[in-house]
Amino acid sequence: MKNNSMWECAECGKIEYGHNPPQECEECWKLNSFVQVDEDEMDEKREADVVEEIRQDFKEEDDE
Ligand SMILES: [Zn+2]
Repeated sequence: MKNNSMWECAECGKIEYGHNPPQECEECWKLNSFVQVDEDEMDEKREADVVEEIRQDFKEEDDE
């Protein structure tokens, strides 16, 4: 995960990782809504994202 960039959906705040941002947000379906997260912001957002992932695991299986 270290080599990947972190992307945040400007619409709903969903976090994704990768060299490029997802074209479409799987949460709100907005196109090209992802913006790159600065490195100094990554740590706090990552912590929030972990909490969010745990919450989602209860709802549905992770398809990654
Ligand atoms: Zn979104």
